Amino acid sequence: MAPVRLCGVTKSFNGNTVLHNIDLEIYDREFMVLVGPSGCGKSTLLRLMAGLEEISDGAIYLGDRQVNHLPPKARDMAMVFQSYALYPHMTVYNNIAFGLRKQRSRQFGWWQAMQASHREVIDQRVRQVAQSLQIEHLLHRKPKELSGGQKQRVALGRAIARNPQVFLMDEPLSNLDAQLRSDTRSQIVQLQKHLQVTTVYVTHDQIEAMTMGDRITVLNQGKVQQVDTPLNIYRRPANQFVAGFMGAPPMNFLPMQIDHQGNLIDHCLTQPIAIGNASIGAVGTDRQITLGIRPEDLQPVIADHAHFVGIVELVEALGSETIILLKVGGLEVRARVSADISLERHWQIGDRSFWRFDLQKLYAFDQFTGITLHHPYSQS
Ligand code: ADP
Ligand code: MG
Repeated sequence: MAPVRLCGVTKSFNGNTVLHNIDLEIYDREFMVLVGPSGCGKSTLLRLMAGLEEISDGAIYLGDRQVNHLPPKARDMAMVFQSYALYPHMTVYNNIAFGLRKQRSRQFGWWQAMQASHREVIDQRVRQVAQSLQIEHLLHRKPKELSGGQKQRVALGRAIARNPQVFLMDEPLSNLDAQLRSDTRSQIVQLQKHLQVTTVYVTHDQIEAMTMGDRITVLNQGKVQQVDTPLNIYRRPANQFVAGFMGAPPMNFLPMQIDHQGNLIDHCLTQPIAIGNASIGAVGTDRQITLGIRPEDLQPVIADHAHFVGIVELVEALGSETIILLKVGGLEVRARVSADISLERHWQIGDRSFWRFDLQKLYAFDQFTGITLHHPYSQS
């Protein structure tokens, strides 16, 4: 078990830079989730750690050891892929034992590793791992006789059996259906807490990121946007990209002006909104901002109390809550309300509806750089 440190890691393919100067420390025994949209460089970063690709610049350390010159098998990291990558002609038992046999023949020589004492050690390890993943009854089967979830557990088993210092997982759940994905999600987290192995887990799914990570690294266009705990990423996003990426439905963004008296003004508002007493007032006066508000922080009100009017475009009842898609001026705004409120209001597509911001929950972003100017949570 060991921390992983990336220092100024850069990767280019044919002169095209896909990862820019990445500095990142993954703590010993930490579950680090690497999240970002498709194509942002997550898999490439993981493959650089594993040694499946060479870095173009920078350095990678495992503990105190610089590993970026080492071949994959000397790095002591085990990778789990989305595609499982099991050997189709081998049984589950042999899929799990295969890596162990190779490991032992590297350590002790091929002839030694064939001896009974080594076979016994391997057998014990395979059965122990199978038991921890509840796949003992599958050991004699071939991959084609397994369900997706079972294959995924075998792939995990193969990684665990080698007892590596680091697990690297690249979207391991994306081939599973929703229910199985959520079950396996919690199993992986429990397993990692039990084994205490430093883990880097790649996903494009912000729910996986929020629920699994001790910390989250948000990546966009090959650059680290923010590294923090799930709650801080959600509440205190470093910029508009992170604010918009984490949360479903995403945060709403509205370009606005703060006038010289400290009122929010915009043609989409029914009246100027005095923000002097709200925490966002600290952003200052006489400037353009991008206002941010999460869907749950919009309240339906009567016309007299409204900050803005929205035309109902879509009503999505999700059971416990309802998402309302509104057209506000030329912009789309999403609100999230309880099912009870939605039943009471009985919104129909095309209705004019009246809404208020929770003024204590407003975010402000720089209109040009997207950097967070204000978030509603005091620093802790
Ligand atoms: P993600 O896993 O976040 O979806 P990837 O790491 O797979 O993203 O890809 C990041 C970028 O690097 C993409 O633009 C992709 O086309 C490019 N890329 C990845 N691997 C190669 C390669 N072997 N050759 C050229 N370009 C690549
Ligand atoms: Mg990928």
